[in-house]
Amino acid sequence: MSFKNAYLQRVYDGVVARNAGEPEFHQAVHEVLESLEPVCDADPRYEKMGVLERLCEPERVIYFRVPWVDDNGKVQVNRGFRVQFSSAIGPYKGGLRFHPSVNQSVIKFLGFEQIFKNSLTGLPIGAGKGGADFDPKGKSDGEVMRFCQSFMTELSKHIGENTDVPAGDIGVGSREIGFLYGQYKRLVNEFTGAITGKGLRYGGSLARTEATGYGLCYFTEEMLNANGKSFKGQRVIISGSGNVAIYAHIKATEFGAKVVAMSDSDGYIYDPNGIDIETVRELKEKNRKRISEYVKYHSGATYTPGCSGIWSIPCDIALPCATQNEIDEVSAALLAKNGCYCVSEGANMPSTPEAIKVYFANKMLYGPAKAANAGGVATSALEMSQNSLRYSWSFEKVDHKLQDIMKNIYNAAADAAALYGHEGNLMIGANIAGFKKVASAMLAYGVAY
Ligand code: NDP
Repeated sequence: MSFKNAYLQRVYDGVVARNAGEPEFHQAVHEVLESLEPVCDADPRYEKMGVLERLCEPERVIYFRVPWVDDNGKVQVNRGFRVQFSSAIGPYKGGLRFHPSVNQSVIKFLGFEQIFKNSLTGLPIGAGKGGADFDPKGKSDGEVMRFCQSFMTELSKHIGENTDVPAGDIGVGSREIGFLYGQYKRLVNEFTGAITGKGLRYGGSLARTEATGYGLCYFTEEMLNANGKSFKGQRVIISGSGNVAIYAHIKATEFGAKVVAMSDSDGYIYDPNGIDIETVRELKEKNRKRISEYVKYHSGATYTPGCSGIWSIPCDIALPCATQNEIDEVSAALLAKNGCYCVSEGANMPSTPEAIKVYFANKMLYGPAKAANAGGVATSALEMSQNSLRYSWSFEKVDHKLQDIMKNIYNAAADAAALYGHEGNLMIGANIAGFKKVASAMLAYGVAY
């Protein structure tokens, strides 16, 4: 891996040396630094003021023990994290992930990405991310509640509506947010918007549940339209069947697309007639079952165990909405060979660097995660605004704001790409546009932080 700009090479080498054994974090930093070459070549202040060294070092990393008691009365111990990455332009903001694969590298890559994503939304939010290596799958509601209460007992010391505002992510949905917020409220004796994604009866925002999936489709439709295309009549593959995937399906279908495949962490379903989203919701949202059961209700559909095979199904548009590095070089090449011309990312960093090279080599349209999936955090920021106002906006009002935000993100990324000589490369454009706002705030502060 080599950079043309010596400053960027030094910063990257320093990140790798100081953060050994954190491959996901290295990957996320490498992608951003590579995009910033033209910006750093043009402005020596970034090097003089050590802006990139500072940006790549979290302001604070909190790492804690989470003890809880299972249904058999046995004590279990998990590991909790909160990485407060950057407060340059607002309170730390980013989700909590509960999944056995969570470790410091995963949380740091997600927190780092969040800096640029949150900046791109145009809203005043800094960047953070957290979670635990706890698996809610297969646990009773009582076990999940006791885990969430223990997790929040420590986390509550570090968050607050003006300090750090967590939300959901993989494994943290409405049930977990309810338990987490209930414990937070009890500990601090306040009713403030210190968590987003809350239920509608206790301070949540209309359209937050839908926001990441809807926002992904608003962004993608904008990108398609700018290239003389649209979702209408297109075959779409969506990986995952969680929050982002379900609402991406609904909005893509509203735009006239046919979603032919979806997955969970065990395997994928293919339904040439179009996946019936109500069956998926019944299985996954309501009953926490496996997606394999879909074929019991739809005779024309097939189920295949294993995740990566989903990318071998011919499609026009692929929306990865499950997890990081789910599309590798081989899967990307299969997508291209089978006629897919657009990949737009609902999940965070779902494409490996080699997969991204395949997209560009095949002139595919590519919507990078930090732009395409920013609708979730943007709507979380709108929830914060409503909590501060002690007021609730209508679904239509929030959805309208979300549509405007996603259009603006597309334009900001496209304009920055063109300005720095990379027209059409939204990955470079999103990284540059997100970076410039945060960097200008850091320069204004001097070396205050
Ligand atoms: P959920 O927990 O609601 O859903 C995750 C889905 O992905 C589940 O269907 C899960 O299957 C599936 N999955 C997990 N690992 C794999 C795998 N290796 N292969 C295939 N499927 C897999 O999470 P979200 O929908 O909230 O998050 C999905 C992605 O979107 C994540 O990358 C997240 O960081 C990102 N994101 C989420 C936002 C939000 O607002 N929720 C905002 C921005 C980004 P199973 O049911 O078997 O666990």
